[in-house]
Amino acid sequence: MKVLVCDKLADSAVQAMRDAGLEVVVKTGMTPEELVATVPGFHVAIVRSATKFRKPAIDAATDMKLIVRGGVGLDNIDVEYAEAKGIKVMNTPAASSASVAELALGFMFALARSIPQATASMKAGKWEKKQFEGIELAGKTLGVIGAGRIGAELIKRANALGMNCIFYRRTPTEVPGARQVPLEELLRTSDFISMHVPLTPETANMLSREQFAMMKDGVYIVHCGRGGTVDEEALLEALNSGKVAGAALDVFAEEPTNNMALVSHPNVICSPHIGAQTKEAQDRVGDEVASIVIEFAKAHAG
Ligand code: NAD
Repeated sequence: MKVLVCDKLADSAVQAMRDAGLEVVVKTGMTPEELVATVPGFHVAIVRSATKFRKPAIDAATDMKLIVRGGVGLDNIDVEYAEAKGIKVMNTPAASSASVAELALGFMFALARSIPQATASMKAGKWEKKQFEGIELAGKTLGVIGAGRIGAELIKRANALGMNCIFYRRTPTEVPGARQVPLEELLRTSDFISMHVPLTPETANMLSREQFAMMKDGVYIVHCGRGGTVDEEALLEALNSGKVAGAALDVFAEEPTNNMALVSHPNVICSPHIGAQTKEAQDRVGDEVASIVIEFAKAHAG
């Protein structure tokens, strides 16, 4: 079986597939045209987020049986079209959950104690001790919107800090250490709100003017979910009015973002979509991708 690795994958994963007897070709950074020209003859393609597997590549992939996305979101693959052509599409959704939850928690500490602002102030030669009075996380209410894999990992950690955890999800669900509440109750009672829903027609701009208006004055927003689920214009207005005391953003409606009004706001801290960018998550993605491909090859041998 011939495997095409289109985006960067841990060396150990490439080696594991070769050790299992698969022919693995690593060719990263292809243009869409190069991808179309390269795919014939390959049975498996591995992508991360950079390679876009659209109709032309799928049409050209006449021998393809499986596309594996190392990571969560499948928006870079025309999944329905691929599946209609008999190509299976799989991903590694759990590999980065702990890393994203840790980033969300790190953001909460950073917001509560203004760590990035205090660092910037000291680097500018100042000693503004009085200006940086913060709050404790202990005893505060954390509202998690979309308590799936990542949300549940965050709740586990927040419980250890003595936070009171509530969550909103469409269907009745048990999440250890947290109470399920209607969205409106979560918005009205949370001190910190952390977004973890995928982007769907239902969740687009799920936090917008109406929702910000319901929140407590001085609420903190943490967003390591998917860009487009928080209305950035409404968030900026809520930051300017003081309704939102601070926001921590890892994901944006457009990436890379051009929304400098939001990024440069003094009460915004941010990072360039690094939730899954840890050594452990990347190794886990590689291990999971390799085992998916090796199992698939075994099942289709002969
Ligand atoms: P998941 O599928 O396990 O959890 C998502 C949760 O959202 C589920 O519980 C689902 O029921 C809930 N949900 C969906 N639509 C909803 C709605 N309309 N109302 C209420 N709840 C709704 O996914 P996950 O692995 O926890 O990932 C969550 C998000 O984090 C994904 O969108 C993913 O793209 C994003 N993510 C970001 C990074 C990063 O680097 N920042 C990394 C990995 C994942």
